[in-house]
Amino acid sequence: MLIKVMESSSLLDILFRDSFLHNPYKYSKEITAISMFEFEKITDSIWAHTKGETFGHVAFVKLKDRLVFIDTGYYPKVIKEARKIAEEMTGLTVKQLIITHHHGDHILGNQVFEDCEIISSKPILKILSAYWTEANTENLRKREPESFSDLRIVLPNKTFEGDYTITDDNLTLKIVQTNGHTNGSSFIFIPEEEVLIAGDLLFAKEVPYFGDETTDPYLWIDAYKKMISLSPKIIVPGHGPVCNVEEMKEQLDYMGKCVKWMENFVNKGGKKEDLEIAENFPMLDYDPYDNFELLFNRSKNRTYDVVKEKLT
Ligand SMILES: [Zn+2]
Repeated sequence: MLIKVMESSSLLDILFRDSFLHNPYKYSKEITAISMFEFEKITDSIWAHTKGETFGHVAFVKLKDRLVFIDTGYYPKVIKEARKIAEEMTGLTVKQLIITHHHGDHILGNQVFEDCEIISSKPILKILSAYWTEANTENLRKREPESFSDLRIVLPNKTFEGDYTITDDNLTLKIVQTNGHTNGSSFIFIPEEEVLIAGDLLFAKEVPYFGDETTDPYLWIDAYKKMISLSPKIIVPGHGPVCNVEEMKEQLDYMGKCVKWMENFVNKGGKKEDLEIAENFPMLDYDPYDNFELLFNRSKNRTYDVVKEKLT
C-alpha cells in the first residue's frame, strides 16, 4: 500500500503520519491475512505481538480470572482476531484494556473492546475526545473504506492521573504516566515478572519519533530514567523488537544528545528554519523508516520549540 503524506499539519495528519511512519514494517495484505496472526510468549502470563500487523505493538496479561489487553493497534479487523486468539489461547475473557497513548496506531482498534473497562491517563482521553469528532471519523472511513468502513472511536471510560494499579493474587500491573513521547504517555510495569511494556516510550532499534505536538524530550528523558530504575528484565517496546534495559539506555543516551545539541544551537542563536539543513544533529545508525526525513524534521522542530521555551 502506498503511503500518502499530506502537506497540511492538522492533527489528523500528525496522527496518520505517526501511525504509518513509525512502522518499520510495510503494510501488506498478506501479512494482515488474519489467520497468520500470532502472539509471542513473553512469560507464562504475558504475550505480545511485535511483528507489525497491528502497526503499534499490542500485548496482553493473563490474570487469574481475566485478561488485560494493552493498546489496540491500527486495524480493527486485525485486533478483533487478536482478541479472539488471546481468549481462545487462555480460556479467559478480556475485561480491561490499557491505552498507552493517543496515537492512531495504538487506539484505532478500541471498538473491539467496547465491553471492557478502558483505562488511560486523563490527557489521553482529552486529546482523543477533542480530535475524534464525527467529521474526522467519517473522513477516515471514507479515506480507507477497506479497513475503516465500520470504524467507531471508543474512548477510555476510566481515567487516572499519575499512576494506576491493577492487581490480583498473583500479578500487579503498575500503569505509570510519565508523558514524554506524548502528553499522557504511560508505561506498564509488572514487577512479579520483571516485564515492562513501554508503548512508544521506547522505540527499539530505530530512531524514536519525537515530533508530536505534545512531545517533551525532557520528560521523555525522565521517563527513560524511571523505567531503567525499575530494572526490568524484558521490555516490550511500542515499535521494534522485544529487548532489555540496554536498549533503553541507548535511547536515553540518544535523547540526551539531541537535547544537548539543541540547547547549544538555541544558545548560539540558531534559527528554527535552519534546522533542516543542520547536518550534525545526533543520529542513530538504524535503517530509516518511510518518510523518515519528514518525521525527523518534525522531531527536530518540536525539540527546538521545547528547548527554546525552557531556555527563555
Ligand atoms: Zn506514538
